[in-house]
Amino acid sequence: MKRLEGRIARILYSEEEIGRRVEELAARIGADYADRGFAKDPKGRPILLVGILRGALVFMSDLARRFRMPVEYDLISISSYANGTAPGAVRLVKDLERPIAGRDVLIVEDIIDTGLTIEYLKRSFAARNAASVRVCSLVDKTARREKPVSIDYVGFTLEEDAFVVGYGMDYAEMYRNLPFIGVLKPEFIG
Ligand code: IMP
Repeated sequence: MKRLEGRIARILYSEEEIGRRVEELAARIGADYADRGFAKDPKGRPILLVGILRGALVFMSDLARRFRMPVEYDLISISSYANGTAPGAVRLVKDLERPIAGRDVLIVEDIIDTGLTIEYLKRSFAARNAASVRVCSLVDKTARREKPVSIDYVGFTLEEDAFVVGYGMDYAEMYRNLPFIGVLKPEFIG
């Protein structure tokens, strides 16, 4: 099989840049929660990282290992309905393993695009009586935002309407294992 790198037109964020940014994010999040300033769990339990499958897997794995505070994690899987069936609706494919009532939840996402997924999850987690719900996304892609969501921790802001792959993000399930984030050559799309 040909090397995946050959299919990339342009690298947006290199492996080194991502590494530095993940480190900075972990430090900021760690400091915010360390004095339990943002933490509201009455029982003082560790924050619960909730990764959204499958894109957030790589980011969450790197982020989690940079924390020096205790954390727990869980995974959830969401899918968007195809256009035409129920535009704007999202569907829960795999739920969390445990209840989150009283927990401080930090949703970890690879990229936020329209904002529909995050909006749905924030509403759902609030309805389950999480003590607090915050959002960390490696990339905030702003061009196609439909729901104004507040993102507490952002790695990179991408203003251009580009479809990106790598570091967990796919095109047709490929490219997730690239260590950087880039844009595909047009001949490999469609
Ligand atoms: P949203 O609900 O539109 O914000 O969708 C976010 C989800 O769409 C992300 O978790 C990704 O799975 C996917 N997504 C959006 N933009 C991209 C992209 O540029 N590359 C890869 N996946 C993307």
